Amino acid sequence: MKEVYDVLILGGGPAGLTSGIYCGRYNLKSLIVAGNFGGTANLAGEVENWPGFMGSGRDLMNNIKKQAKKFGAEFLETSFEKVEKVDGLFVLHYGESFVKGKSLIVALGTEHRQLDIKGEKEFLGKGVSYCATCDGNFFKGKRVAVVGGADSAAKAALYLADICEKVTIIYRKHEMRCEPVSLSAICGKKNIEILYFSKPLEILGKGVVKGLKINTEGKGESILNVDGVFIEAGAVAATEVLKDLGLTMENGYVVTGKNCATNVLGVFAAGDVTNSEMRQMITAAGEGAVAAKGVHEFLMEK
Ligand SMILES: Cc1cc2nc3c(=O)[nH]c(=O)nc-3n(C[C@H](O)[C@H](O)[C@H](O)COP(=O)(O)OP(=O)(O)OC[C@H]3O[C@@H](n4cnc5c(N)ncnc54)[C@H](O)[C@@H]3O)c2cc1C
Repeated sequence: MKEVYDVLILGGGPAGLTSGIYCGRYNLKSLIVAGNFGGTANLAGEVENWPGFMGSGRDLMNNIKKQAKKFGAEFLETSFEKVEKVDGLFVLHYGESFVKGKSLIVALGTEHRQLDIKGEKEFLGKGVSYCATCDGNFFKGKRVAVVGGADSAAKAALYLADICEKVTIIYRKHEMRCEPVSLSAICGKKNIEILYFSKPLEILGKGVVKGLKINTEGKGESILNVDGVFIEAGAVAATEVLKDLGLTMENGYVVTGKNCATNVLGVFAAGDVTNSEMRQMITAAGEGAVAAKGVHEFLMEK
């Protein structure tokens, strides 16, 4: 007979890994299931806003994973397709196999939003990228565009500005909505240009990216000569795999209340996947800790 975990933690980013630490401290038998440990936080080249730590997101995540292991969390590295509730237990299906738990912490984070324009799929990996820290080095000394205007776009542009000859930010609104500290840094970089009121129309090239066709309000269409297009157009919660659970959602994000509980008994959620206001590593980790407390109280009552 398969063993039943006290809690299955879905996701191995800051939220899931921190849940693992706290579940261990509550003496709960936990299994963290993730497609990749560290999650989106691995993409943060330099983390400047985690109190008491300065270094890469990947190093921070490796340390948190070690801490979770120290407190007894178990790890399963796999993508899973489905989670359901059967006879009062949660069953997570992956490949041909499954695992069972008495409760769930959903910490699945988000996935990048696509632009759905011509050339985006065709040139993926051939000049189109969704991760500046992963792919930036391929564009040393080249000209690139960054599409988007929020924190991730600003960070990508700043990162690329140190590698590339020129970075052009394409943003549909009239001002960036990133942290002011990032905007100041952008303004201080001579090789970053921001084109406001601009929308990408098509990624052009032959085999590899050679340009980006844009439309700028009041000016019409033009073509930027770029070798790379970094798409930082926001994110959507990774909730497709949860559809059988009947969770209440708001704009695709899981709605949580006290102790990070959801509307389904025994299911808690933490981090970027929830409808919370701030999507950052520190808030994800904080919610991961609270969700573990929620699970502990739920199992005690049970
Ligand atoms: C480029 C970049 C830079 C950033 N820099 C910073 C920064 O400097 N400071 C900061 O505070 N925040 C930063 N952020 C935001 C930060 O990374 C996120 O807020 C944080 O990682 C959210 O944590 P999370 O645990 O909720 O989700 P994530 O870190 O996204 O983790 C989600 C987890 O779920 C797993 N998962 C999802 N679906 C499945 C599935 N079907 N099967 C198996 N596993 C699955 C993933 O593998 C992953 O382990 C940055 C984000 C980006 C993109």
